[in-house]
Amino acid sequence: MLTLKGLSAEEEYPDLSQHNNHMAKVLTLDMYRRLRDRATPSGFTIDGVIQTGVDNPGHPFIMTVGCVAGDEETYEVFKELLDPVISDRHGGYKPTDKHKTDLNSNNLKGGDDLDPNYVLSSRVRTGRSIRGFCLPPHCSRGERRAVETLSIEALASLTGDLKGKYYALKNMTDAEQQQLIDDHFLFDKPVSPLLLASGMARDWPDARGIWHNDNKTFLVWVNEEDHLRVISMQKGGNMKEVFNRFCTGLTKIETLFKERGHAFMWNEHLGYVLTCPSNLGTGLRAGVHVKLPNMSKNAKFEEILKRLRLQKRGTGGVDTAAVGGVFDISNADRLGFSEVELVQMVVDGIKLLIEMEKRLEKGQSIDDLMPAQK
Ligand code: ADP
Ligand code: MG
Repeated sequence: MLTLKGLSAEEEYPDLSQHNNHMAKVLTLDMYRRLRDRATPSGFTIDGVIQTGVDNPGHPFIMTVGCVAGDEETYEVFKELLDPVISDRHGGYKPTDKHKTDLNSNNLKGGDDLDPNYVLSSRVRTGRSIRGFCLPPHCSRGERRAVETLSIEALASLTGDLKGKYYALKNMTDAEQQQLIDDHFLFDKPVSPLLLASGMARDWPDARGIWHNDNKTFLVWVNEEDHLRVISMQKGGNMKEVFNRFCTGLTKIETLFKERGHAFMWNEHLGYVLTCPSNLGTGLRAGVHVKLPNMSKNAKFEEILKRLRLQKRGTGGVDTAAVGGVFDISNADRLGFSEVELVQMVVDGIKLLIEMEKRLEKGQSIDDLMPAQK
């Protein structure tokens, strides 16, 4: 029994009456009553799971999930809440569904020829969690430092094009850090209320940093929202090359961690287990910065993105608006599709969007190009 001070569930239940996120839609008083006496083996409780969604009723651009995991077991111990959230967020994904992984970039068709007059840069990222350590909302300072030390050791073994160096946030000047952020290589400072309320920004900047190769085409963020965020990116529209490097590098990293006795959190149902339920499965976001000044003003833009299973963001990251008709367009799904399938959706969808943009430039109709719902 974890209930303290003899207070009842009614007295502790959060006021969710004004909320619009997935957690708030699912968490009833009765469910809260059942879940508040539970904890994971590392001591993560329902209040830890939901705090970010309690403190952030809604978000101007995206429907947030409103909850996080504190460790690998969170998804099992609190499944009464998390299964429906996962289903709502991931298109009806059921507790009995199995997730598929495909990190063989040879299975991607095309993708090396996205028109560079429109596509400014291409990027693929995912997260990975190291089994046995609590996740960022719940880890202790020592655990976070252990994840950093282990990552520095493992990544130091990458060679060739993937050879790089680790830069701890603590050892960077403010100007150096800002330059990396402005150049789209580094995570933002801990300003997002979602990050702050979940507990992920505790002790900042302790044990946070970025590892990257010399030409900054392969990068690993350490201890931001996930233990690891692995990123492959470059200028222009060669998504194939970006995805190749992503698969090769990621597979090597997984091997290096395994050789040191540390597997990544993974299971057949959830795929790769990450901090935010919205990232489960592949954790993959493949996206381009693409110029669509005409398309984005078209009344059918939102509907077309939805049919192509794509999402849009501003080019400064998740909380930003587009500037000058340039958008960050990426796959909307993470779970229930393989990595290859998701990148394929982006490649095919971006090609179509550019074709439509060219039509609109000439004042022509795009009606005959309308895609069916994928
Ligand atoms: P995520 O958390 O999914 O990695 P964010 O939206 O938080 O992405 O953005 C993180 C950083 O990555 C931002 O600086 C953003 O501009 C940059 N970024 C995202 N996609 C691209 C892209 N296709 N090309 C260049 N930079 C990108
Ligand atoms: Mg982000």
